Formats: sequence, structure tokens, C-alpha cells
Amino acid sequence: MNSSSPKGVALITGASAGIGAIYADRLARRGYDLILVARNEQRLNAAAGRLRADTGIQVTPLPADLNNHADLAKVEAVLRDDATITMLVNNAGVGSVASILQADVDKMEAMIDLNITALTRLTYAAAPAFVARGKGTIINISSAVAIAVENLNGVYSASKSYVLSLGHSLQKDLAEKGVRVQTVLPAATATDFWDVAGYAPQKTSQITMQPQDLVDAALAGLDAGELVTIPGLHDIEAWTRWEQERREMAAKFRNAKPAPRYHVA
Ligand code: NAP
Repeated sequence: MNSSSPKGVALITGASAGIGAIYADRLARRGYDLILVARNEQRLNAAAGRLRADTGIQVTPLPADLNNHADLAKVEAVLRDDATITMLVNNAGVGSVASILQADVDKMEAMIDLNITALTRLTYAAAPAFVARGKGTIINISSAVAIAVENLNGVYSASKSYVLSLGHSLQKDLAEKGVRVQTVLPAATATDFWDVAGYAPQKTSQITMQPQDLVDAALAGLDAGELVTIPGLHDIEAWTRWEQERREMAAKFRNAKPAPRYHVA
């Protein structure tokens, strides 16, 4: 992309609808040029037209099915080669509410391919490129079920726990190299996610957040330097305590002998 924006270009996956479409709107208003990735070319083109007309920024639709290896490779190549890209929003994802006894294992595999494999490959394409350019931001969309793992389908929750864990590790590897990594944990948000996941009523529940509020809070968290942003969690001390205890426990695992409670002679 031939971007002349001082902010550079943000590449957003899953930008044709829901949370990704709001990221596109908000980042455009912040002055980023955009590359929008999703499968539905018509919706991408319509979003691109709207954003250009509203904000005057440059928008490139990049239709791709991130479950398809060739399409995914195409997006990876753009991240590696386009030196004007300064931000990756890894947002595309699907969920499910089905239990293990109801869920189709092929659908579970496809979910892993999108929520984990595609996110990982795009991160691996962007991170070295951002390090070489001396700056860049990666925003990975996880979920509150990364922690509240029993709430939805187990593979979905585990895929989002992966995103949270990967984020911690990336922060360790990249913080000194000028690359920011923010992990965002939305709770229930009013998008078509719930139609795909199999529980449409969640969209209109009183405890469901609007995607505009979710993204505005997530970007406020980014501005504030948060590494993990949980817009729905009012008691942020609960997260701080959990993180502190996790890090303290991490120092206690390495012992040559099993714990006395196992009575190993
Ligand atoms: P959404 O409204 O269903 O949007 C999903 C986006 O991903 C769409 O733009 C869709 O576009 C795209 N997408 C789906 N499969 C794709 C594929 N194979 N290749 C490329 N793009 C694909 O859902 P959302 O709520 O905005 O979800 C965004 C992220 O937030 C997901 O990672 C989700 O897990 C996470 N999240 C959502 C909630 C919630 O309650 N909504 C809560 C926690 C976390 P196309 O159909 O055009 O491809």
C-alpha cells in the first residue's frame, strides 16, 4: 500500500463485521490507513467505500479466507513486505456454545485453524517485520472465556486461553524491541458472533456490551499502555491479583522432588 499517513497502516482481520468493523472505523478516525481482511468481498468493499468517504483515509480491501492456506500466506506476505504497516489487529475468530458431546470435531479443527493457527502465522509474519522497522503494535482479540473457561465450548475457550498465553510470551520477547502487544478480553458483545456460535439470544441480553463501547474501551486501554485489557471487568484489582499470583507461582514449580503430599520415597 502506498500510505503517506504518519500513523501508517493498520491491517485488521475480520474487518467486515462486528468488532473488527468498529476497529476499522475507530482506527480510520485516528488517522490510520487500512487494509481490511475477511472473506466477504462485497461487505469489505462497502466498508472501504464508507470509510474513505467519512474519513478520507486510504483503504485496501484484502479478501481472504484465513482457513485457506494460500489465502493466509497472501496476508502473511503483505505483513512481511509492506513497510508502511504499523499495526496488526488479529480479530477474526469464530466461537461455539456446543459441548463436546454435541460439537462436530471438523468444525472444532476449523476453529483452531482460524483462532489459533491463522493468528499465530500472522503474528509470526508481523513481529519480525515490526522489529526490523523498529516499531509496531499487535492487538490480539482473546476473550473473557480465556479465564472463564467453563462458560462456552471448550475448544473455543482453550483457543482464547492460547491467545492470552501467547500475548504474555510475546510481550516478554518483543517489549524491548519497540513492538507493543495488547491482548483484549471481550465478554459477551452484541455481534453476529452469537449467530455463528449457536446462541443468538445473547446478542440482546442485558449483560451484553455494544461493540462500539468494547472497541472504544480497548483503544483507551491501549493508549493507557495496558498489556491486557478487559473492558467488562470493573474490579480490575481482581485481574491484578490473579496476574501477581500467577507470576509468583511460576517461580515455585522447579523442584527435583515431587511434593511431599504424593509420598514418593
Ligand atoms: P463477527 O461479528 O461474527 O465477526 C467475525 C469477523 O471475522 C467477520 O468480519 C468475518 O467476516 C470474519 N471471519 C470469520 N471467519 C473468517 C475466515 N475464515 N477468514 C477471514 N475472516 C473470517 O464476530 P465478532 O464478535 O466481531 O468477533 C471478533 C472477535 O472477537 C473474534 O475473535 C471473537 O472470538 C472475539 N470475541 C467476541 C465476543 C462476542 O461476544 N462477540 C466475545 C469475546 C471475544 P467474513 O464472514 O466476511 O469472513
